[in-house]
Amino acid sequence: METPRVNLMNLDREGLERFFESIGEKRFRAHQAMKWIYHHGVTDFAAMTDVGKALRAKLEAGAEIRPPKVLFQKVSTDGTTKWLIELDGGNAVETVYIPEPTRGTLCVSSQVGCSLNCTFCSTATQGFNRNLSTAEIIGQVWIAARALGHDAKDNRRLTNVVMMGMGEPLLNFDNVVPAMNLMRDDLGFGLANKRVTLSTAGLVPGIDKLSQACDVSLAVSLHAPNDALRETLVPLNKKYPIAELMAACQRYLKTRPRASVTFEYTLMKGVNDAPEHARALVKLLRRLPSKLNLIPFNPFPGTRYERSDEDAIRRFQTIVMEAGLIATVRRTRGDDIDAACGQLVGNVLDRTRRSSLYKPAVAMEMRA
Ligand code: SAH
Repeated sequence: METPRVNLMNLDREGLERFFESIGEKRFRAHQAMKWIYHHGVTDFAAMTDVGKALRAKLEAGAEIRPPKVLFQKVSTDGTTKWLIELDGGNAVETVYIPEPTRGTLCVSSQVGCSLNCTFCSTATQGFNRNLSTAEIIGQVWIAARALGHDAKDNRRLTNVVMMGMGEPLLNFDNVVPAMNLMRDDLGFGLANKRVTLSTAGLVPGIDKLSQACDVSLAVSLHAPNDALRETLVPLNKKYPIAELMAACQRYLKTRPRASVTFEYTLMKGVNDAPEHARALVKLLRRLPSKLNLIPFNPFPGTRYERSDEDAIRRFQTIVMEAGLIATVRRTRGDDIDAACGQLVGNVLDRTRRSSLYKPAVAMEMRA
Protein backbone atom coordinates (compact mmCIF):
# COMPACT_ATOMS: atom_id res chain seq x y z
CA MET A 1 0.00 0.00 0.00
CA GLU A 2 1.20 3.50 -0.73
CA THR A 3 2.01 5.60 2.34
CA PRO A 4 -0.10 8.76 2.43
CA ARG A 5 1.64 12.00 1.57
CA VAL A 6 2.39 14.44 4.37
CA ASN A 7 0.26 17.55 3.98
CA LEU A 8 2.72 20.32 4.83
CA MET A 9 -0.17 22.56 5.94
CA ASN A 10 -0.62 20.26 8.93
CA LEU A 11 2.75 21.35 10.34
CA ASP A 12 3.85 24.54 12.04
CA ARG A 13 7.46 25.80 11.87
CA GLU A 14 8.75 23.26 14.37
CA GLY A 15 6.85 20.43 12.75
CA LEU A 16 8.14 21.38 9.31
CA GLU A 17 11.72 21.61 10.56
CA ARG A 18 11.38 18.11 11.95
CA PHE A 19 9.84 16.90 8.71
CA PHE A 20 12.71 18.24 6.58
CA GLU A 21 15.26 16.80 8.98
CA SER A 22 13.52 13.44 8.77
CA ILE A 23 14.01 13.39 5.01
CA GLY A 24 17.67 14.32 5.38
CA GLU A 25 17.33 18.01 4.57
CA LYS A 26 18.40 21.17 6.38
CA ARG A 27 15.95 23.03 8.61
CA PHE A 28 16.02 26.19 6.50
CA ARG A 29 14.10 24.26 3.85
CA ALA A 30 11.13 24.49 6.23
CA HIS A 31 11.42 28.28 6.16
CA GLN A 32 11.54 28.36 2.37
CA ALA A 33 8.46 26.16 2.18
CA MET A 34 6.55 28.36 4.64
CA LYS A 35 7.26 31.48 2.62
CA TRP A 36 6.01 29.81 -0.54
CA ILE A 37 2.88 28.47 1.10
CA TYR A 38 1.84 31.39 3.29
CA HIS A 39 3.38 34.47 1.66
CA HIS A 40 2.96 33.47 -1.98
CA GLY A 41 0.00 31.10 -1.74
CA VAL A 42 1.83 28.38 -3.65
CA THR A 43 0.54 24.79 -3.53
CA ASP A 44 2.71 23.36 -6.27
CA PHE A 45 6.29 22.30 -5.51
CA ALA A 46 7.23 23.05 -9.11
CA ALA A 47 6.71 26.77 -8.42
CA MET A 48 9.35 26.79 -5.65
CA THR A 49 12.15 28.25 -7.72
CA ASP A 50 14.73 28.38 -4.94
CA VAL A 51 14.35 24.67 -4.23
CA GLY A 52 16.56 22.37 -6.33
CA LYS A 53 15.09 19.84 -8.74
CA ALA A 54 16.09 16.79 -6.73
CA LEU A 55 14.41 18.04 -3.55
CA ARG A 56 11.32 19.12 -5.49
CA ALA A 57 11.02 15.59 -6.85
CA LYS A 58 11.44 14.15 -3.35
CA LEU A 59 8.70 16.45 -2.04
CA GLU A 60 6.37 15.62 -4.89
CA ALA A 61 6.73 11.95 -4.05
CA GLY A 62 6.18 12.17 -0.30
CA ALA A 63 4.42 15.43 0.49
CA GLU A 64 1.64 17.73 -0.63
CA ILE A 65 0.30 21.21 0.07
CA ARG A 66 -3.43 20.76 0.32
CA PRO A 67 -5.72 23.49 1.66
CA PRO A 68 -9.44 22.68 1.84
CA LYS A 69 -11.66 23.62 -1.12
CA VAL A 70 -14.06 26.53 -1.25
CA LEU A 71 -17.66 25.56 -2.05
CA PHE A 72 -18.75 29.14 -2.40
CA GLN A 73 -17.82 32.67 -1.45
CA LYS A 74 -20.38 35.35 -0.74
CA VAL A 75 -19.61 39.02 -0.44
CA SER A 76 -22.18 41.37 1.05
CA THR A 77 -22.43 45.01 0.02
CA ASP A 78 -20.69 46.06 3.22
CA GLY A 79 -17.67 43.89 2.46
CA THR A 80 -18.42 41.08 4.89
CA THR A 81 -17.38 37.88 3.19
CA LYS A 82 -18.31 34.33 3.95
CA TRP A 83 -16.75 31.15 2.64
CA LEU A 84 -18.35 27.75 2.81
CA ILE A 85 -15.44 25.36 2.99
CA GLU A 86 -15.79 21.80 1.80
CA LEU A 87 -14.57 18.90 3.88
CA ASP A 88 -15.00 15.19 3.34
CA GLY A 89 -18.25 13.26 3.74
CA GLY A 90 -20.61 16.11 2.81
CA ASN A 91 -19.38 18.23 5.69
CA ALA A 92 -18.50 21.88 5.45
CA VAL A 93 -17.56 24.71 7.75
CA GLU A 94 -18.02 28.43 7.47
CA THR A 95 -15.42 31.17 7.74
CA VAL A 96 -16.42 34.82 7.97
CA TYR A 97 -14.40 37.99 7.27
CA ILE A 98 -15.57 41.17 8.97
CA PRO A 99 -13.97 44.39 7.71
CA GLU A 100 -14.00 47.40 10.00
CA PRO A 101 -12.35 50.80 9.50
CA THR A 102 -9.24 49.98 11.52
CA ARG A 103 -9.03 46.22 11.25
CA GLY A 104 -10.11 43.12 9.36
CA THR A 105 -11.18 40.15 11.46
CA LEU A 106 -11.49 36.57 10.31
CA CYS A 107 -13.74 34.23 12.29
CA VAL A 108 -12.40 30.70 11.98
CA SER A 109 -13.99 27.30 12.78
CA SER A 110 -12.21 24.53 14.69
CA GLN A 111 -14.64 21.58 14.57
CA VAL A 112 -17.45 20.27 12.41
CA GLY A 113 -20.35 20.73 14.79
CA CYS A 114 -19.79 20.87 18.54
CA SER A 115 -20.25 18.54 21.51
CA LEU A 116 -20.99 21.09 24.21
CA ASN A 117 -24.72 21.57 23.63
CA CYS A 118 -25.03 25.21 24.61
CA THR A 119 -28.79 25.69 24.49
CA PHE A 120 -28.75 29.00 22.57
CA CYS A 121 -26.26 28.04 19.83
CA SER A 122 -27.30 26.67 16.45
CA THR A 123 -24.01 24.82 15.92
CA ALA A 124 -25.10 22.62 18.86
CA THR A 125 -28.21 21.48 16.98
CA GLN A 126 -26.08 19.55 14.49
CA GLY A 127 -24.14 17.65 17.15
CA PHE A 128 -20.47 16.85 16.97
CA ASN A 129 -18.98 15.37 13.84
CA ARG A 130 -15.20 15.69 13.97
CA ASN A 131 -12.18 17.85 14.70
CA LEU A 132 -10.66 19.89 11.91
CA SER A 133 -7.05 19.18 11.04
CA THR A 134 -4.41 21.90 11.33
CA ALA A 135 -4.45 22.17 7.52
CA GLU A 136 -8.22 22.72 7.57
CA ILE A 137 -7.92 25.41 10.24
CA ILE A 138 -4.95 27.35 8.82
CA GLY A 139 -6.44 26.63 5.38
CA GLN A 140 -9.38 28.91 6.24
CA VAL A 141 -6.93 31.77 6.83
CA TRP A 142 -4.98 30.83 3.69
CA ILE A 143 -8.17 30.90 1.59
CA ALA A 144 -9.32 34.23 3.03
CA ALA A 145 -5.89 35.86 2.71
CA ARG A 146 -5.68 34.92 -0.95
CA ALA A 147 -9.24 35.97 -1.75
CA LEU A 148 -8.74 39.32 0.01
CA GLY A 149 -5.38 40.00 -1.62
CA HIS A 150 -3.84 40.17 1.85
CA ASP A 151 -0.14 40.93 1.92
CA ALA A 152 1.49 40.48 5.32
CA LYS A 153 3.89 43.40 4.71
CA ASP A 154 2.10 46.32 3.05
CA ASN A 155 -1.53 45.54 2.62
CA ARG A 156 -2.81 44.13 5.86
CA ARG A 157 -6.40 43.38 5.01
CA LEU A 158 -6.42 40.66 7.59
CA THR A 159 -5.29 41.91 10.98
CA ASN A 160 -7.11 39.69 13.49
CA VAL A 161 -8.20 36.08 13.75
CA VAL A 162 -10.80 34.93 16.25
CA MET A 163 -11.38 31.23 16.89
CA MET A 164 -15.10 31.95 17.25
CA GLY A 165 -16.56 29.95 14.40
CA MET A 166 -17.97 26.47 14.77
CA GLY A 167 -16.68 24.21 17.51
CA GLU A 168 -14.88 24.35 20.84
CA PRO A 169 -11.23 25.06 20.00
CA LEU A 170 -9.86 23.76 23.32
CA LEU A 171 -11.37 20.34 22.54
CA ASN A 172 -9.24 20.26 19.41
CA PHE A 173 -6.13 21.52 21.17
CA ASP A 174 -3.47 19.56 19.26
CA ASN A 175 -4.61 20.83 15.88
CA VAL A 176 -5.62 24.35 16.93
CA VAL A 177 -2.28 25.27 18.57
CA PRO A 178 -0.09 24.61 15.46
CA ALA A 179 -2.64 26.54 13.37
CA MET A 180 -2.45 29.51 15.78
CA ASN A 181 1.36 29.24 15.65
CA LEU A 182 1.22 29.60 11.87
CA MET A 183 -1.10 32.61 12.14
CA ARG A 184 1.48 34.39 14.36
CA ASP A 185 4.68 33.22 12.69
CA ASP A 186 6.50 35.78 10.51
CA LEU A 187 6.92 33.06 7.93
CA GLY A 188 3.19 32.37 8.23
CA PHE A 189 0.63 35.19 8.46
CA GLY A 190 2.67 37.33 10.86
CA LEU A 191 -0.21 38.44 13.10
CA ALA A 192 0.62 39.94 16.49
CA ASN A 193 0.04 37.51 19.38
CA LYS A 194 -2.72 39.58 20.92
CA ARG A 195 -4.55 39.73 17.58
CA VAL A 196 -5.18 36.01 17.60
CA THR A 197 -8.00 35.15 20.01
CA LEU A 198 -9.16 31.78 21.19
CA SER A 199 -12.71 31.69 22.50
CA THR A 200 -13.81 28.91 24.85
CA ALA A 201 -17.06 27.90 26.52
CA GLY A 202 -14.97 27.47 29.69
CA LEU A 203 -12.88 24.33 29.56
CA VAL A 204 -10.73 24.91 32.65
CA PRO A 205 -7.93 22.35 32.03
CA GLY A 206 -7.71 23.54 28.42
CA ILE A 207 -7.21 27.16 29.54
CA ASP A 208 -4.32 26.08 31.79
CA LYS A 209 -2.79 24.02 29.01
CA LEU A 210 -3.11 26.91 26.58
CA SER A 211 -1.36 29.31 28.95
CA GLN A 212 1.74 27.09 28.73
CA ALA A 213 1.54 26.32 25.01
CA CYS A 214 0.71 29.43 23.08
CA ASP A 215 0.69 33.20 23.61
CA VAL A 216 -2.70 34.34 22.32
CA SER A 217 -5.63 36.39 23.63
CA LEU A 218 -8.29 34.55 25.58
CA ALA A 219 -12.05 35.02 25.29
CA VAL A 220 -14.52 33.20 27.51
CA SER A 221 -18.19 32.65 26.74
CA LEU A 222 -19.78 33.53 30.07
CA HIS A 223 -23.42 34.46 29.33
CA ALA A 224 -24.54 34.38 32.98
CA PRO A 225 -23.26 35.74 36.31
CA ASN A 226 -24.29 32.75 38.47
CA ASP A 227 -24.02 28.96 38.24
CA ALA A 228 -27.75 28.19 38.34
CA LEU A 229 -28.44 30.29 35.26
CA ARG A 230 -25.20 29.45 33.45
CA GLU A 231 -25.92 25.73 33.75
CA THR A 232 -29.11 26.19 31.75
CA LEU A 233 -27.21 27.93 28.95
CA VAL A 234 -23.77 26.29 28.96
CA PRO A 235 -24.08 22.70 30.30
CA LEU A 236 -20.27 22.56 30.63
CA ASN A 237 -20.73 24.80 33.68
CA LYS A 238 -21.78 21.72 35.68
CA LYS A 239 -18.27 20.38 35.25
CA TYR A 240 -16.42 23.69 35.54
CA PRO A 241 -18.46 26.18 37.60
CA ILE A 242 -17.91 29.93 37.44
CA ALA A 243 -15.53 30.17 40.43
CA GLU A 244 -13.18 27.61 38.87
CA LEU A 245 -13.45 29.31 35.50
CA MET A 246 -12.56 32.69 37.00
CA ALA A 247 -9.60 31.16 38.82
CA ALA A 248 -8.35 29.69 35.53
CA CYS A 249 -8.64 33.14 33.90
CA GLN A 250 -6.61 34.63 36.78
CA ARG A 251 -3.93 32.00 36.23
CA TYR A 252 -3.94 32.71 32.49
CA LEU A 253 -3.35 36.40 33.13
CA LYS A 254 -0.55 35.77 35.61
CA THR A 255 1.68 34.72 32.74
CA ARG A 256 0.57 37.76 30.69
CA PRO A 257 0.79 40.83 32.94
CA ARG A 258 -0.59 43.42 30.54
CA ALA A 259 -3.34 41.31 28.98
CA SER A 260 -7.04 41.07 29.77
CA VAL A 261 -9.67 38.40 29.22
CA THR A 262 -12.65 39.15 26.99
CA PHE A 263 -15.95 37.81 28.30
CA GLU A 264 -18.70 37.17 25.78
CA TYR A 265 -22.23 37.63 27.03
CA THR A 266 -25.11 36.87 24.70
CA LEU A 267 -28.18 38.89 25.71
CA MET A 268 -31.42 36.91 25.70
CA LYS A 269 -34.76 38.50 26.45
CA GLY A 270 -36.03 37.75 29.96
CA VAL A 271 -33.23 35.22 30.54
CA ASN A 272 -29.99 37.02 31.45
CA ASP A 273 -30.60 40.67 30.55
CA ALA A 274 -32.05 42.16 33.76
CA PRO A 275 -30.32 44.93 35.75
CA GLU A 276 -29.59 42.47 38.58
CA HIS A 277 -27.68 40.26 36.13
CA ALA A 278 -25.62 43.27 35.08
CA ARG A 279 -24.87 44.15 38.69
CA ALA A 280 -23.88 40.56 39.54
CA LEU A 281 -21.64 40.50 36.47
CA VAL A 282 -19.88 43.65 37.64
CA LYS A 283 -19.14 42.00 40.99
CA LEU A 284 -17.80 38.92 39.25
CA LEU A 285 -15.52 40.70 36.80
CA ARG A 286 -14.30 43.52 39.00
CA ARG A 287 -11.29 41.61 40.31
CA LEU A 288 -9.99 40.63 36.88
CA PRO A 289 -8.58 42.74 34.01
CA SER A 290 -11.43 42.11 31.62
CA LYS A 291 -13.44 43.38 28.69
CA LEU A 292 -17.08 42.56 28.17
CA ASN A 293 -18.45 41.77 24.74
CA LEU A 294 -22.24 41.98 24.73
CA ILE A 295 -23.81 40.02 21.86
CA PRO A 296 -27.51 40.54 21.17
CA PHE A 297 -28.87 37.00 20.68
CA ASN A 298 -29.06 35.92 17.05
CA PRO A 299 -32.15 33.79 16.48
CA PHE A 300 -32.21 30.62 14.39
CA PRO A 301 -35.03 28.26 13.35
CA GLY A 302 -36.42 26.30 16.29
CA THR A 303 -34.81 28.28 19.10
CA ARG A 304 -36.71 29.01 22.30
CA TYR A 305 -34.79 32.24 22.98
CA GLU A 306 -35.36 35.79 21.78
CA ARG A 307 -33.08 38.77 21.37
CA SER A 308 -33.19 41.31 24.19
CA ASP A 309 -34.96 44.58 23.48
CA GLU A 310 -32.81 47.54 22.51
CA ASP A 311 -33.69 49.27 25.80
CA ALA A 312 -32.61 46.27 27.84
CA ILE A 313 -29.31 46.08 25.93
CA ARG A 314 -28.58 49.77 26.54
CA ARG A 315 -29.57 49.53 30.20
CA PHE A 316 -27.33 46.50 30.68
CA GLN A 317 -24.40 48.21 28.97
CA THR A 318 -24.88 51.40 30.98
CA ILE A 319 -24.86 49.56 34.32
CA VAL A 320 -21.64 47.69 33.60
CA MET A 321 -19.92 50.73 32.10
CA GLU A 322 -20.86 53.00 34.96
CA ALA A 323 -19.25 50.45 37.26
CA GLY A 324 -16.02 50.88 35.30
CA LEU A 325 -16.04 47.84 32.98
CA ILE A 326 -15.20 48.17 29.32
CA ALA A 327 -18.25 46.87 27.46
CA THR A 328 -18.92 46.85 23.73
CA VAL A 329 -22.05 45.69 21.95
CA ARG A 330 -21.41 43.51 18.94
CA ARG A 331 -23.78 44.71 16.26
CA THR A 332 -25.18 42.59 13.47
CA ARG A 333 -26.00 44.27 10.19
CA GLY A 334 -27.44 43.02 6.91
CA ASP A 335 -30.79 41.44 6.09
CA ASP A 336 -29.79 37.92 6.81
CA ILE A 337 -27.99 36.83 9.92
CA ASP A 338 -26.69 33.49 8.77
CA ALA A 339 -23.10 34.53 9.37
CA ALA A 340 -23.60 35.82 12.88
CA CYS A 341 -22.39 34.36 16.18
CA GLY A 342 -23.88 30.99 16.94
CA GLN A 343 -25.43 30.69 13.53
CA LEU A 344 -22.70 28.96 11.62
CA VAL A 345 -23.99 25.65 10.36
CA GLY A 346 -21.61 23.73 8.18
CA ASN A 347 -23.72 20.88 6.96
CA VAL A 348 -24.38 21.35 3.28
CA LEU A 349 -27.72 19.58 3.30
CA ASP A 350 -28.85 21.51 6.32
CA ARG A 351 -27.73 24.68 4.59
CA THR A 352 -29.88 24.01 1.59
CA ARG A 353 -32.87 23.61 3.84
CA ARG A 354 -32.03 26.76 5.74
CA SER A 355 -31.52 28.82 2.64
CA SER A 356 -35.14 28.21 1.69
CA LEU A 357 -36.10 29.79 4.99
CA TYR A 358 -33.63 32.62 4.86
CA LYS A 359 -32.43 34.88 2.11
CA PRO A 360 -28.81 33.96 1.41
CA ALA A 361 -26.75 36.97 2.32
CA VAL A 362 -24.26 37.68 5.03
CA ALA A 363 -24.33 39.72 8.14
CA MET A 364 -21.99 42.36 9.33
CA GLU A 365 -20.93 42.59 12.88
CA MET A 366 -19.82 45.89 14.28
CA ARG A 367 -18.84 47.08 17.65
CA ALA A 368 -21.10 49.85 18.78
N1 SAH B 1 -17.04 27.19 21.56
C1 SAH B 1 -16.34 28.44 21.66
C2 SAH B 1 -16.19 29.12 20.32
C3 SAH B 1 -17.48 29.62 19.69
S1 SAH B 1 -17.45 31.35 19.78
C4 SAH B 1 -17.05 29.32 22.68
O1 SAH B 1 -18.11 28.92 23.17
O2 SAH B 1 -16.54 30.38 23.03
C5 SAH B 1 -19.05 31.81 19.33
C6 SAH B 1 -19.64 32.81 20.31
O3 SAH B 1 -20.99 33.11 19.93
C7 SAH B 1 -19.71 32.24 21.70
O4 SAH B 1 -19.51 33.23 22.66
C8 SAH B 1 -21.13 31.75 21.74
O5 SAH B 1 -21.58 31.57 23.06
C9 SAH B 1 -21.86 32.84 21.01
N2 SAH B 1 -23.16 32.42 20.50
C10 SAH B 1 -23.57 31.17 20.25
N3 SAH B 1 -24.83 31.16 19.78
C11 SAH B 1 -25.22 32.44 19.73
C12 SAH B 1 -26.41 33.07 19.29
N4 SAH B 1 -27.44 32.37 18.82
N5 SAH B 1 -26.48 34.41 19.34
C13 SAH B 1 -25.42 35.13 19.80
N6 SAH B 1 -24.27 34.59 20.21
C14 SAH B 1 -24.17 33.25 20.18
